Amino acid sequence: MREYSCRLRYHVFIVLLLIIGLPGTLYAVSLDNAKTEKLALHAVKGFQLDYTLDVSALSAGGVVYVDLESMSRALRLSNKREGSLLKITYDGNGRTTVCSLREGSNFAGFMLEKPGAGERVVQLRSAPVLWKGSLWLRAVDAARLFSLWMDREVVYDKAKNRIDAFLWSPQPGSGKSKIGLVRDQDRYISTGPIPQYKGPTIIKALEVNELANGVVIRFKASGAKTAASFIRPDKAGNASLTFETAKGDPADIFRTFSQGLLKEIRAIPLGNGAMQINITLNNEFYKVKSSEYQWDPRTNSYVVSIMSDIDVQAVYRAEKEKSIRQELARDLQKWKFDTIVLDAGHGGKDPGAVGLGGTLEKDIVLTIVRDLGAIIKKEWPDVKVVYTRSDDRFIPLKQRGKIANRNDGKLFVSVHCNAAKNRSAKGAEVYILGPHKNQAALRVAMLENAAIKQEEDYKEKYKGFSEEHMIMSSLAQNAFTLQSKEAARHVLEGMEKKTKLNGRGVRQAGFMVLWTPSMPSLLVEAGYISNREEEKMLRRRSVQRDIARGIFNGLKQYRTSYEKRQVVSSSGVRSKG
Ligand SMILES: [Zn+2]
Repeated sequence: MREYSCRLRYHVFIVLLLIIGLPGTLYAVSLDNAKTEKLALHAVKGFQLDYTLDVSALSAGGVVYVDLESMSRALRLSNKREGSLLKITYDGNGRTTVCSLREGSNFAGFMLEKPGAGERVVQLRSAPVLWKGSLWLRAVDAARLFSLWMDREVVYDKAKNRIDAFLWSPQPGSGKSKIGLVRDQDRYISTGPIPQYKGPTIIKALEVNELANGVVIRFKASGAKTAASFIRPDKAGNASLTFETAKGDPADIFRTFSQGLLKEIRAIPLGNGAMQINITLNNEFYKVKSSEYQWDPRTNSYVVSIMSDIDVQAVYRAEKEKSIRQELARDLQKWKFDTIVLDAGHGGKDPGAVGLGGTLEKDIVLTIVRDLGAIIKKEWPDVKVVYTRSDDRFIPLKQRGKIANRNDGKLFVSVHCNAAKNRSAKGAEVYILGPHKNQAALRVAMLENAAIKQEEDYKEKYKGFSEEHMIMSSLAQNAFTLQSKEAARHVLEGMEKKTKLNGRGVRQAGFMVLWTPSMPSLLVEAGYISNREEEKMLRRRSVQRDIARGIFNGLKQYRTSYEKRQVVSSSGVRSKG
């Protein structure tokens, strides 16, 4: 049975080949039936500094292609098309390089912009295809191409149908160029007249150039050339260079490295006037491909170059992790969960929603927020509670976020009561800022946003706050989305456990009050004031206290997991030194 089906497949294959013809036209045929789509490109330029843009893509026979010009634009690279030739320019790593790609060619060239500077050619696993006026390349190959060229981690995630580009710059002031490649001229070749060196050999300084595919170590010397013997790295990652007769201060030659191929360089003066340099390598993550030693006569340097397997992605992953850890360490104090901002919705001339029994939203939420504040003060003496309003007064929406930012809040909780024309609607909801996913969420956001109409000159003040502005703001809040979501989930759960209010889920919508705070933010709709039953409930002190307790229990859950994460990150920093 099995044999038969194999044969059958074989025959089908032959027939297909006959129909389709040469592999070169295979792409053309399959692309004609291609479906255009969008591929998200998520670029990370730094800690909490990222953006997502759509890249034109198409899928044909299960293979995803990207429009190379569109992808270049998403990576903020300028590009120029000349027929079937595409040139993309990249200003990075301290130089300008041009990548040229041609339809049907499996080779991409990386050229330094200045003429005669040489070219690096890489082979692609597939060639760019010209289709409907654009140059397309398989997404996986395009990611690899930009990765190699820019020396940044660019990864195509097939499952998520997304490209992640980690465009971190090397750490400023690190003095290392981790992005270059060991080239011949880096290693030892020097031209020009060779000076005559006389006198005792003194090793004066150490210069290390760490690169993506290895490291170049220069021992700068004065005096006559001395014989030196180099012992290549062994399996444990130990190499050595021994100068027959040399002097030098071991302190000038000692260096340790927290990451990368090199672990340590240490000079050991030997009794017979010789000096041994021990070079310890990180053989855990790097595989040494080759190593060489040479005296550079023009600069009187003893040069050891060690080349490892190029794993640019691994290098950048490590670099990215390092940057994140550094940022976290720096921000650890800043991120301490020490201030919580409580925002009672509406107030003053703005009553908010009004129940059939005359209950005012502004009164209910003020009591709940005061209860919540009292619980926080009692249970968390180390946390400062900031109220946007603690009495019945009108505060403009934007002002609320500003109060939160000014006080360096770590979480912004806005409390409201919901209302709907449909009197049977009931239950609690927790919202975070984001584009609304359904009409119901939009309706609630519009209801709460209507508070701006109470503000003087609101049309003038909120002029720019269009849909577009909303998207911008939610992008800014994006950095906190995960945290906001998590907090919202816990708070809803806490309220469900503590009250009879049926949780209606965590939702997102464009709440203006959540636009301004630069911190994880959420908006609680503590039941429907428009529902007779819930209106009565919401008026009861015991229920108000339970809602506050429920919110607090959620915040407690959130704080626990938040601080656990902080501890993990900070201990990560410490263990790495
Ligand atoms: Zn409200």
